[in-house]
Amino acid sequence: MSDTFTHSDVETCPAFSIKHLSLITLPLALLITTNVFGHGAASAPATQGNPEIQTQADARKIVFPDTETHKTLVVDLHTHTVFSDGHVWPKIRVGEALRDGLDAMAVTEHLEYQPHIADIPHADRNRAYAETLAAAEGSDLMVIAGSEITRSEPVGHINAVFINDANALFEITTPPEDPADVRALFEASDAWPAQNAVDAAAKQGAFMFWNHPYWTAQSPDGIARMNDFHQGNIEAGKLHGIEVANGRDYSAEAHAIALEHSLTLIGVSDVHDLIDWDYAPHNGGHRPVNLVLATDRTPEALRSALFAGRTLVWFKNLLIAREPEMTAMLDASLEVTAASYRPNTQVLDVSIHNHSDARYDLHNLTDMTFMDHANHISIAPHATTTFSVKPGEAATNVALTFEVRNALLTPTSHPSITFNVTPEVE
Ligand SMILES: [Zn+2]
Ligand SMILES: [Zn+2]
Repeated sequence: MSDTFTHSDVETCPAFSIKHLSLITLPLALLITTNVFGHGAASAPATQGNPEIQTQADARKIVFPDTETHKTLVVDLHTHTVFSDGHVWPKIRVGEALRDGLDAMAVTEHLEYQPHIADIPHADRNRAYAETLAAAEGSDLMVIAGSEITRSEPVGHINAVFINDANALFEITTPPEDPADVRALFEASDAWPAQNAVDAAAKQGAFMFWNHPYWTAQSPDGIARMNDFHQGNIEAGKLHGIEVANGRDYSAEAHAIALEHSLTLIGVSDVHDLIDWDYAPHNGGHRPVNLVLATDRTPEALRSALFAGRTLVWFKNLLIAREPEMTAMLDASLEVTAASYRPNTQVLDVSIHNHSDARYDLHNLTDMTFMDHANHISIAPHATTTFSVKPGEAATNVALTFEVRNALLTPTSHPSITFNVTPEVE
């Protein structure tokens, strides 16, 4: 989302001496890699070799297991920096991504809404990407080029990622008298038809998704609704996904639209300030992310998986996905690690280990009851829960079926999972 037009924040200038630039002529400077003129690589968490600090640093990393058939990539495809209405330099976004253990991220600036334009008058809208790329150099983080196409309703905001030139996605036919007049600049760019921007991104092979379609600034009742613009672009194969989770919000209506129109489920932070302020990862919080099931850990495989709709959304400990991706992730996350009858009883002790960052809330769907739990079993992240079930006889195969309450297949339904437990019987 974007700020209002009343923007009073004070920005501090990044530490980079212009003296370095004056030694080289500008055309030559443009040929040199972004690293040279970037503001340095982002730092990894400082642990000073202290294992306790290392544990703390690792604790905030978002960790989900690979599935049987795919690699699980942790991805945030919607963030902002000072190059539009965010309040940090791209290097900080990269530092946050490294701390959160992301596999890929995109900085997606509003092309048309530029509240810092007086201080950062970048005519080249690829600068944010170049700075992000430079900050990620030497790390494993994949930086995806993207932009946020920003219009009034009914178009609203659309993210285009995997683009190769952001400048082609916006045009100012009649420049405002004062180039630093933020509102006039937005109105001048807003005048260029949104369809032109979408067409330009489509030409570059972009993956496009509808941002926060429920945003109360543009949809005051908070309800996402399909309209002709988005419907037309879906039918034309130009709009491929929709945010069902953005920042602090989940939209049941956006989720329903995704299922009805076969759109890729997207979950993003849309962070403007600091991840630590918004999500308190030191207190166990996490930013909303996509878990993308890709054939490989490469940008190309990530792109293909997005087009194929192989995503889950992880939002406030809720997993949101279609059936195939959900089943794959549940199967990879939860494993029966032990099962045996208590001596001289028909009471079966079962241990289930959770290989993921999600806290699983399992609700018993069988007729069997437990010794030490009511109908509900919780399995903490990366922990094992042991419970005792009463099948009534020392059976060699016990099917335990649970509803997974921290997961959604539709806005109103949870998936279920069955563990076929095979204890040894004496
Ligand atoms: Zn945004
Ligand atoms: Zn937005």
